[in-house]
Amino acid sequence: MNSKVTEIKNLFDAKISSVTTSDNVEELRVEFLGKKGHIAALMGELKNVPNEEKKEFGRVVNVLKQEIEQTISEKKDALIKEEQQKIIDSAEQYDESLPYDIQTGSYHPITLVSRDLERIFASMGFSIEDYSEIVDDYHCFEALNIPKHHPARDMQDTYYLSTENQLLKTHTSAAQNAIMKKYGAPLRAIFPGRCFRNESTDASHENTFFQMEGIMIDKDISISNLIYFMKTMLSEVFQKDVTVRLRPGFFPFVEPGFELDIKCLICGGDGCPSCKNSGWLELCPCGMIHPNVLRHGGIDPEEYTGFAFGLGLTRLAMMKYGVKDIRMFNSGSLKSLSQFKNE
Ligand SMILES: [Zn+2]
Repeated sequence: MNSKVTEIKNLFDAKISSVTTSDNVEELRVEFLGKKGHIAALMGELKNVPNEEKKEFGRVVNVLKQEIEQTISEKKDALIKEEQQKIIDSAEQYDESLPYDIQTGSYHPITLVSRDLERIFASMGFSIEDYSEIVDDYHCFEALNIPKHHPARDMQDTYYLSTENQLLKTHTSAAQNAIMKKYGAPLRAIFPGRCFRNESTDASHENTFFQMEGIMIDKDISISNLIYFMKTMLSEVFQKDVTVRLRPGFFPFVEPGFELDIKCLICGGDGCPSCKNSGWLELCPCGMIHPNVLRHGGIDPEEYTGFAFGLGLTRLAMMKYGVKDIRMFNSGSLKSLSQFKNE
């Protein structure tokens, strides 16, 4: 019976030495190791083998089977590698000298305006501070001289968290107290940030917008310091001389408080639709920091005075880039947002 085994072994050796593709190897695997293959046929012969030779016959067939399995597996691996190498060799070489086209991203217009301002204020000795968007009632209102039931709170309805006393800050002024406590006086700092109001949205109202707060506290700080800093900063932002004026305005955290207007950049003060024919654009609330706010911040109002302003970064970006609809800023529309490049 062993001659049959030898015959199959010779047949396999002859066939495997002449295969040239991995597909051929697969055909051989079916021919020898498949359900109706030569090895299965040899096992079928077992019943005709005399009992005393059965064990030896089974062993020999098994050895052959393992040899065939291993040879097939090695041959197949080698051929697949060869075949892949041929594909690599014959593929057209890429040309690394060809020009490439990468879509570069761009900064959000709010980021551009914010960085502009940060650069200008940093050059005037202000530090740039970061502050959280979730604050508590104390920092957003109480510490700013806006006690509970104060009418100013009605103007600043916001989103309250289920955690007790936590809310999304309605203005960057919410950072004033923490920054005063952190540095004490004298102090010059700006703090840009995202603010929230519970508002229905239209072309000029958004529930999420950006402000930049600034405070300067020192001995003998007066309103003329405030005017100087605002005028210098705005002339830099708009790259031209800007005329400013102060009108009385009421905000609980400043005393006296002002609305700062700039002469309309579009008509130069003659009157146009953008300035509602007044020649002036309302830009930001500001004023001398209220003594109560200084006290809350641990600063002695007998010794120090200071000014504060709250610039609408979003409004400033609308003016600088001529954006007519405030909702564009939060639209996520790359078509619009990628128009703004840093000059
Ligand atoms: Zn105008």
